[in-house]
Amino acid sequence: MKIDVLIIGGGPTGLSIGYFLKKENRDFIILEREDRVGGISKSIKLNGSIFDLGGHSFHTPYQEVEEFVKSLLPLDGLERDARVLFKDTMIPYPFQKFFYLLPYSEIVRECEVGLKNKKEKYKNFSNFYEYILHTFGDGISKYFMLPYNQKLWGRNLKNISIEWVNERVAAPKGVQEEFKKDGKRRPLQPKMVVYYPRKGGFEEIFISMSKSFKDKILVNETVEYVDLKQKFVVTSKKRKIYWNLLVSTMPLIDFIDIIFGISDFEKDHLSRLSNDLEYLSLRLDFFVIRGRPYSSLQRIYSADFKIPPHKIAFNHNSSNYLKRMPNEAIIMETSFSKEKPLPEDINVKLINTLKAIKAIATESDIIYHEHQFLKYAYPVYTRKRVTALGMIRKILKNYNVFTVGRFGGWEYINSDKCIKIGMNFVKSLK
Ligand SMILES: Cc1cc2nc3c(=O)[nH]c(=O)nc-3n(C[C@H](O)[C@H](O)[C@H](O)COP(=O)(O)OP(=O)(O)OC[C@H]3O[C@@H](n4cnc5c(N)ncnc54)[C@H](O)[C@@H]3O)c2cc1C
Repeated sequence: MKIDVLIIGGGPTGLSIGYFLKKENRDFIILEREDRVGGISKSIKLNGSIFDLGGHSFHTPYQEVEEFVKSLLPLDGLERDARVLFKDTMIPYPFQKFFYLLPYSEIVRECEVGLKNKKEKYKNFSNFYEYILHTFGDGISKYFMLPYNQKLWGRNLKNISIEWVNERVAAPKGVQEEFKKDGKRRPLQPKMVVYYPRKGGFEEIFISMSKSFKDKILVNETVEYVDLKQKFVVTSKKRKIYWNLLVSTMPLIDFIDIIFGISDFEKDHLSRLSNDLEYLSLRLDFFVIRGRPYSSLQRIYSADFKIPPHKIAFNHNSSNYLKRMPNEAIIMETSFSKEKPLPEDINVKLINTLKAIKAIATESDIIYHEHQFLKYAYPVYTRKRVTALGMIRKILKNYNVFTVGRFGGWEYINSDKCIKIGMNFVKSLK
């Protein structure tokens, strides 16, 4: 079998490429390891409740991506309700904009003073740790930004670079910023409207996207072997498929592992470069809770190390359809890494967390609980990432291989950017 464009992975990036190739009547096929499309943006149904793999909502700075997605399916736009759990109280998220609402006057004062003195005290910054002190000052850093980010990233913040922060880390109180449709991602803003499929889970966007080329998607078909020189892959079903152009959206580290047909020198070189790519994993705990404890709350963020998750998502507050569900669907996101293993008594701690946020009164309010691991959840921006990526891509391009997407391109991007990458990629082929 020979295909013009062979795509590995039926997540948002692979599907977007497929969608726009189909429009151009190009010859292509998507090989997907799982039994359905969606990748990290898929949803799961547990005990009648709908969960995503960590809290998802749709928001984009790309006008054309928003128009495209809205043309695929109806979306519900809801005002984002995110809060910070601090000791026994909750304030709106992010902490750096709303700390003044804390009922602890001494802490509020420390944050204010820190903000005032930050520029003289922390003049230069070259890593994420220094950036936090420089941008937020002592108080906000001590009470939220440093512990929260240490908890989330599970590693020394001095080893994290800062090329992503303008897109993701909200500015402190007093600094105006806006999430606009100007093609530049900005941090999510309080009370901003975010979108979600009007019916079902987040994955509905990608199920809708794939409808027009279902026949081109081969599910339950893992790519296990890639011969770069002879330009073919072998799948778990022992199918051998030749290609002119290969686009991989699978995690780049895993892709390099299954490359063959090149010299040992080149393979070793690629493997060494891939060692410079770091990632963060998540344990996702899915709880079905009796009743609806909150009518609008969507996210809680916590910097407290006694509480395992850094983020808790209330999935049934993502759309009006889900709001009508009789029970709450709570997702707890707990990151882990070599330096930050999961606590041994995590289950006890998670139940205590549910009580602390008043989602349950007693354990009997939990109707269902299970957890899953997401090995590749966040690409970590280290100083070596850009160089390693550049060199890997250059080598692969010589073989007409492109590797794109969240873990294909090792970029901290959301599904909207994945769609944009698909649009641009197909345009670049014309
Ligand atoms: C906790 C969390 C919260 C997020 N929140 C949001 C949000 O609010 N909004 C948003 O838009 N995005 C969000 N994202 C990001 C979004 O989920 C990803 O950006 C998006 O799914 C990435 O798409 P992708 O196609 O690049 O990769 P993936 O989704 O990872 O898809 C890759 C596909 O490749 C397949 N694959 C892997 N190996 C093989 C193989 N050997 N052979 C065949 N197939 C293979 C996989 O099964 C998968 O389907 C979030 C992500 C996380 C982890």
